[in-house]
Amino acid sequence: MRFGDFHTHTVNSDGGNTIAEMAAAAEELGFYALGITNHAPMPNESHYTSRQEWLAGIIREVEELRPKYEGRLELFAGIELDINTELDVSALDYIIEANHFPIAPDGARCVVDWGVDNVSKAVNEHFGGDIYSFIARYFEELSRAGDRGPATVGHFDLINIYNEDDCLFSTTDKRYLDAAFGAIDVLSKKDVIFEINTGALYRSQRTQPYPALPLLKYMKERGCRIILDSDSHSVEMLKGHRMLDALEHAKAAGYREDEIEKYPLLRKK
Ligand SMILES: [Zn+2]
Ligand SMILES: [Zn+2]
Repeated sequence: MRFGDFHTHTVNSDGGNTIAEMAAAAEELGFYALGITNHAPMPNESHYTSRQEWLAGIIREVEELRPKYEGRLELFAGIELDINTELDVSALDYIIEANHFPIAPDGARCVVDWGVDNVSKAVNEHFGGDIYSFIARYFEELSRAGDRGPATVGHFDLINIYNEDDCLFSTTDKRYLDAAFGAIDVLSKKDVIFEINTGALYRSQRTQPYPALPLLKYMKERGCRIILDSDSHSVEMLKGHRMLDALEHAKAAGYREDEIEKYPLLRKK
């Protein structure tokens, strides 16, 4: 099976390599396609995110590289767009919607994947110490994916990034399951694809790709479509993509190989 990868980062956000270097590596790996999806700009700018003025340059660079790889590797310009970020994405081929910064009831932007200490701090300061309210807010916001047009839902249960072996909260708790399954119910009726994301596997943060198997099984039951992504932040990471693990994960949830999407939902230009 040849793989495509539609979730990758470059030096234009928090990645370590250029678009050209990522494309060369994808070709070397025998991928049929590569999509570049840097983090969208955020109101509170950080190392993590792209700048608004970089977007046009990213699109142009992808367009300029296309002829070089014609017939061997398809190239796409997308973005990893936060659910709480407003952005004109009309010039992009596709979007991945994700929730890295849920907004607390008091208006504070909290972080999901910036270390356990920051998550605990956010939960204590803005959710009265109740991690399940934080989780509910995360999934509630993420269930708005697809409202801005067709989209991939990025790392659906990112909220579990530091929760290997349920060390932070119980993934069998009814409040957790209601929040996660509720979001799947909403999203399953929209024009979205869920990604199986191996990024945390490569970084040894998780032993399973996102989404966790019980959630992926529920997605299968609900007729949700899936795609395999590595969320690579460097050439090295792309080379260690773990796509075969993602494929096994899909199969374990009941998906057949021919049911896996080959492309994200492209936006009409
Ligand atoms: Zn992400
Ligand atoms: Zn990403």
